[in-house]
Amino acid sequence: MKTSARESDTVRTGGPVPDTDLTRCVKDYAREEVGFDLVGIAAADDPQFDIAPEGHKPAEWLPGAKSVVVGGIKVLREILHTTPSPVYAKHYDQLNLWLTQAAYQLSRFLQEKGFQAMYSPESDPYEYFGAQRERGETRYSPSFCHIHAAVAAGLGTRGKVGVVLTPEYGPRQRWISVITTAPLVPDPRLAKEQCIEFLKPGSCGDKCIEVCQKDQGGALKSWPDEGGVDMFACDWADLKAGGLSCGRSIEACPVGKAKH
Ligand code: SF4
Repeated sequence: MKTSARESDTVRTGGPVPDTDLTRCVKDYAREEVGFDLVGIAAADDPQFDIAPEGHKPAEWLPGAKSVVVGGIKVLREILHTTPSPVYAKHYDQLNLWLTQAAYQLSRFLQEKGFQAMYSPESDPYEYFGAQRERGETRYSPSFCHIHAAVAAGLGTRGKVGVVLTPEYGPRQRWISVITTAPLVPDPRLAKEQCIEFLKPGSCGDKCIEVCQKDQGGALKSWPDEGGVDMFACDWADLKAGGLSCGRSIEACPVGKAKH
């Protein structure tokens, strides 16, 4: 549903608009004008963010933050089927660029409504990533964890290797998060477990881990006990494959395949 001019004007003037109206307005804009396939709202103080390193929680990035708007864009399955390939590697980059532009647009929209807003990139600059590896850190620590944000926003649950699975696309989407002072209504957690291996052990056979061990050197481990995705190992495997981003594990996952 499009936002009416009257509703927009009421919000922009800082009038007494109920949170539910503002929330609907922001979600409609994110879906219909920006073009996100998935949109959810998390409270900035959701417990999911508690384990973020110091300085990386929503209100530490943006003092006074009340909400995090999480947006997802689907991966095109026809292109994913070609992975690893230059076509998929380019698609991966294209989605990241789209997410950055989309988050910028949504942040400006929130600013025009009278609130502060900033976004965290869909993935950090390579130098930030590489510096952690050179310091000898054993786990990659992102500037902001979109996985925690997507779970807090009720968009999915974490699967066998810790990535977010959604009912719509399984693991086949990419994420970005906009932190804002807007007092939006948080979405409830997704109640239904999405990973069929968690629902019924043995039903999937850990396909995500299996294909990674076979083709990419085993960068994916069981989550949470073995840590999930080892980003340093994943990146090294991509480099060995000529710099082609690998999407084999998300391609193999059966969740959401019937719909996507
Ligand atoms: S491939 Fe299987 S085990 Fe891995 S996330 Fe998907 S359903 Fe879960």
